[in-house]
Amino acid sequence: MTALDITILEQHMELLRPPFPARDAPEAAAYMLLGASDIGADLWSRQPRLRLVSHRVIDIPAADHISASPVHVTWSTVGFMRLLGDAMIAGKVPAIVHTHPGSYAFFSDQDDRNEQELARTAHLKGVRGLVSIVLGGDGSVSARIWTAANTYIVADTVQIVGGRFIRHAAEATESAEAEHLDRQRRLFGAGFNKTLRSLRVCVVGCGGTGSPVALLLARLGVGYIYLIDNDTLAETNLNRVHGSHRPDVGMAKVEILKREIETMGVGCHVITSKAWVKSTEVRDGLKSADFIFGCTDDNSGRTFINRLAYFYGIPLIDVGLRMVAANERQINDLNGRVTTALPGRPCLICSGVVNAARAHEEDLERTRPEEFQKRKEEAYVIGGGDPAPAVVTFTTEMATVAVNEMIAAITGFHGSEGMISNRVRRWHSRDDRFLAHRKRDGCPVCNSDWSRGAGDVVPFLDMVS
Ligand SMILES: [Zn+2]
Ligand SMILES: [Zn+2]
Repeated sequence: MTALDITILEQHMELLRPPFPARDAPEAAAYMLLGASDIGADLWSRQPRLRLVSHRVIDIPAADHISASPVHVTWSTVGFMRLLGDAMIAGKVPAIVHTHPGSYAFFSDQDDRNEQELARTAHLKGVRGLVSIVLGGDGSVSARIWTAANTYIVADTVQIVGGRFIRHAAEATESAEAEHLDRQRRLFGAGFNKTLRSLRVCVVGCGGTGSPVALLLARLGVGYIYLIDNDTLAETNLNRVHGSHRPDVGMAKVEILKREIETMGVGCHVITSKAWVKSTEVRDGLKSADFIFGCTDDNSGRTFINRLAYFYGIPLIDVGLRMVAANERQINDLNGRVTTALPGRPCLICSGVVNAARAHEEDLERTRPEEFQKRKEEAYVIGGGDPAPAVVTFTTEMATVAVNEMIAAITGFHGSEGMISNRVRRWHSRDDRFLAHRKRDGCPVCNSDWSRGAGDVVPFLDMVS
């Protein structure tokens, strides 16, 4: 059976739910279009999974409201037919949303009857399903998809995703109260451990920053980790890849980390791909992630996961370091950066942390190495020089800052905004700078109603190469 989970972007949630609804307010309703993300085989359950992500909220015009009270809402079918038409044209899944101001989120008998009728209409129209979402007055959320006129699947989780990550689970996942997490429960409560246990986190790049990120996530109690890196351990990695030992030289970095995490015995499930992040074999794993950590040096790979964050509504926490050795003219220039990219915020390109020219060169080097070599000799390429300096204390420190951003998303420990957009730590000048970037006009990634929550499109991520 297909599993279902639903992501509602924070910016859409703000449109759906007024901050302080009165308990006796009438039920309210809206329509939405959701992008679909089909996962052929979930990495862990091996079952198909459908993820839906909010793409657009459509107000129901006042003229369409027939009646509303604290216990019911009905509206005209004219607008509903228009919704189905829009969904067909956009290749999206239609959704109806309504509130239960005076109670929690559940599907009432009345809801069952109304929705059956609407689901039949949707089915006849030819859309792949009709989603229904209920928002409770107590903050709870329930959702299901009608796949036919009388069959539905209940979402096992609904997550509200923005600077904060708030997960609503249909029922308790496997017993979350692990003895070894008692000390952090004392700080953030049992709900924190429970959310972590349910999380699927993907780490892209398992070197100097990715290796401590992966090990910290496992220690923290994340239930499912997916590691992607195409490299094997080199002699020069022993200075910073956590968990590596000299006999591991030549071994896949992802396998070293898997071994280390499994040896911890903390109940974390690890799956690995020794592959390039843009290869098709890693797509299902990326699309099922709740968070993605970008721990690669690679501009091309970074450009790719940057797009993925916006199309699928998956927060990306990206880490980078820039270390320049002292010479006669300048002192050391030692910078670490953590940037969070997700719908509603500037992307990595607008934040200036990805070099588009370098990304093209890296693609060239991978796909046409002779051409790349030729251009390099003619000095037409800017990169591909000496390896960058790297020191374990600095890479590890930024890995910790990155994982703390995920904790901030779940707990709000450094403010209700959740994750910080961009932090640059400058060790040489002993400060942190918080740079406010803007979305560039016309950025197709972060400033586009089309790509936000688009889900699966052809070609994948609307990328031609
Ligand atoms: Zn209801
Ligand atoms: Zn952008």
